Amino acid sequence: MYLKSIEVHGFKSFANKIDFKFENGITGIVGPNGSGKSNVADAVRWVLGEQRIKQLRGASMQDVIFSGTEMRKPLSYASVAITLDNSDHVLPLDYDEVTVTRRLYRSGESEYLLNGTVCRLKDVNELFYDTGIGKEGYSIIGQGQIDKILSGRPEERRELFDEAAGIVKFKKRKDASVKKLESEEGNLVRVKDILSELEKQVGPLEKQAEVAKVYLKKKEELKSLDVNVFLLENDRLKGQLESVEEKLTTATEEFDETNS
Ligand code: ATP
Repeated sequence: MYLKSIEVHGFKSFANKIDFKFENGITGIVGPNGSGKSNVADAVRWVLGEQRIKQLRGASMQDVIFSGTEMRKPLSYASVAITLDNSDHVLPLDYDEVTVTRRLYRSGESEYLLNGTVCRLKDVNELFYDTGIGKEGYSIIGQGQIDKILSGRPEERRELFDEAAGIVKFKKRKDASVKKLESEEGNLVRVKDILSELEKQVGPLEKQAEVAKVYLKKKEELKSLDVNVFLLENDRLKGQLESVEEKLTTATEEFDETNS
């Protein structure tokens, strides 16, 4: 894998679109102080996802957009595209050539593209883990950085060694897993709380269930007793009706006899 080109447009001092091609061997960019040499390195850092504006020598992220000169109007966006030869597939992608693009508009809108397809900053970061190329990598050593590495805090130096040892990917994965585990542990505590709350309710609910069972049994009994009462009452009334009918027949006969 090697750097093939850097296309810069609207980034810092590069008002015109410029395409730096890198051939075999060493390429040097020379120029007087302030002519924009470090801006090339900044462009690489930026396209690889640099979020710390201090690292890009500005005050706000919008400072990376060409701010105009006496002769030229400011531009509305900055764009940098870095192309790497990936024929050896060091980058875990099927493509032989990988182009990462970052764009930022004055409105604050920004986007990353991987071979022309919009992607997340996370995808760009993960792509370069352990290659030494990422923004934390050791392949971009800016002015005064060697000194910073030597005199920096051990944790800062550690980042560089981790990247060189190729363990950043695993460390990040471990961090993500530990975070997930912590959140799962939090969930477990909540589930246990709910469980103990529910367990407290089990006793009274059992009692209520017993009462409800007895009630349902009694209700069934009442229903069948009601039916029996109805049948008995029915029989009694039928008997009464029969005797009344008999009496009526007798009375009718007596009446008929008296009248004849
Ligand atoms: P040195 O050798 O002193 O480090 P250099 O050649 O590396 O200098 P840089 O620091 O890369 O130069 O470039 C600084 C130049 O870039 C300055 O002229 C500055 O005005 C210009 N510049 C930085 N940001 C912008 C911007 N947003 N718009 C226009 N020009 C910019």
